Amino acid sequence: MTSYAKRMGIKSRLLPDLSLALGTSEVNLLELTSAYGVFANQGVRVAPIYILSVEDKNGKVLEQSRTVAEEVLSPETALTMTSMMESVLENGTAASARALGFTAPAAGKTGTTDDYTDAWFVGYVPGAVTGVWVGFDRKQKIGPGMTGAAAALPIWVDVMLAATKGRPAQDFPVPSGVVSRLICVETGLLANPACPSTEIELFREGSEPTGYCNVHTGTAKPQQETPDFHETDTEAPADERLRL
Ligand SMILES: [Zn+2]
Repeated sequence: MTSYAKRMGIKSRLLPDLSLALGTSEVNLLELTSAYGVFANQGVRVAPIYILSVEDKNGKVLEQSRTVAEEVLSPETALTMTSMMESVLENGTAASARALGFTAPAAGKTGTTDDYTDAWFVGYVPGAVTGVWVGFDRKQKIGPGMTGAAAALPIWVDVMLAATKGRPAQDFPVPSGVVSRLICVETGLLANPACPSTEIELFREGSEPTGYCNVHTGTAKPQQETPDFHETDTEAPADERLRL
């Protein structure tokens, strides 16, 4: 994981232990935001620059920054991450972004420290990434319940609404020859409503599973609606149809 992080432009020292996946190492906002930009950019990292160009009073360009782009992830890997982080805004910790008025396809991740001293949200749409950090210079509680979603996400929504104003909402591009399917993590087959753990996975066209999970066919997991059967689902009489 640390080598992935380096390729994506994280320069802060990461502690290479298992807790890294939980977000225990501290990185600065610019590094983190630019790393998420790799996902937004289909795997291509563009090193951040502060000054685009320097001109004299007559408009003569004295110096110009060059953007350096490098493919550090495959488009498929970048889109897999995007798919996972889209669900954060659809039904995860950042779902309130929708209620706050940001409705375009977007992906992102919240961050909250145990003691509410830092609140983060980094999120992106195709073509734009924004990172928000809320906290104090000195480690100090922001306030009770000040999670990334509560403190940072509303700021992100304001910035992104302004940044994307007048632009039509865009879907994240899917690399050609790639299809996405919701699969059961345990069996790797297409997910049923009863599958306890599912994820969206990308497949090369033609290699995607076509059969449904044959292990979790019983009772639907709690809190999930029992799917209704449609007329076309079965030719058996209604009272003989399988009930989930
Ligand atoms: Zn299953």
